[in-house]
Amino acid sequence: MNLIDGKAVSAAVRAKVAEETAELKKKGVSVGLAVIIVGDDPASRVYVNNKKKACAEVGFESFEYALPAETTQEELNALVDKLNSDPKVNGILCQLPLPSHLDENEVINRISPAKDVDAFHPANVGHIMIGDYSFLPCTPAGVMELIHSTGVEVKGKNCVVIGRSNIVGKPMAMLLLHEHGTVTITHSRTVDLKSITSRADILVAAVGKANFVKADMIKEGAVVIDVGMNRNEAGKLCGDVDFEDCKEKAGYITPVPGGVGPMTIAMLMRNTLTAAKQQNRIK
Ligand code: NAP
Repeated sequence: MNLIDGKAVSAAVRAKVAEETAELKKKGVSVGLAVIIVGDDPASRVYVNNKKKACAEVGFESFEYALPAETTQEELNALVDKLNSDPKVNGILCQLPLPSHLDENEVINRISPAKDVDAFHPANVGHIMIGDYSFLPCTPAGVMELIHSTGVEVKGKNCVVIGRSNIVGKPMAMLLLHEHGTVTITHSRTVDLKSITSRADILVAAVGKANFVKADMIKEGAVVIDVGMNRNEAGKLCGDVDFEDCKEKAGYITPVPGGVGPMTIAMLMRNTLTAAKQQNRIK
């Protein structure tokens, strides 16, 4: 088994972003990310703080908009409109989930596609579909970096994705397809999941169920990427893959924590830099 070190791959991506950001600064261009958070969900607070910290480390400006839980859709929309036209803001993200009275899709659709560094806007989703994109959604893009770090080529491989969410499973499948993988997407209605996953040369688990993937579900020597971030009965962070069970059989495997998690923020930083370059017409 080879452990895929998400922390190291993420650090390398962030170092490159920091280097390019310093170069842009010399040309008088600064990079700014606006983060909107509505309400006081503790998990969202942690994610937003981590994003602000990552911005500071790579030399971006970050602008936080912490709105009260009772914020109306009109107020949120007005803030998005303001940020869309603010030249100091290159990327905008709205931390999800939003309080239930707010419409997430309305916000996603309102963020300018050029500043949509999460790549959730339908225009950006369409670009990903046709393989002509500026931004990739952060988690699937991070997974691709981890696969690349193994040296295993995706071309011609049997790739299986467990999960079909709009933010992970579906775009993940598309990115593997763009690199010429033969891709199967599985989900909760898939019949005989094990027979499909055990043929995968590359298996990506994005299920949201602790320790769901066991050794008898994977192929000997497979690249196993665990997107899951769950809590087990003891409250400990764990993935969708039973790491202890699978580690000897897998060729390459990501740990949780320290695998996909650190990549998501790194890719957000890269997307924000790309947005700033595009908005300033810099190659
Ligand atoms: P989600 O929207 O809940 O989607 C889960 C998917 O898993 C669904 O498509 C569901 O199928 C499928 N599924 C559920 N039970 C299944 C089963 N028994 N067999 C096969 N498929 C099954 O979750 P998500 O947002 O994609 O996130 C997945 C996991 O990744 C979560 O643990 C989340 O916390 C984590 N995550 C991590 C990061 C990161 O940065 N590391 C980022 C995003 C998400 P149906 O469609 O049929 O319901």
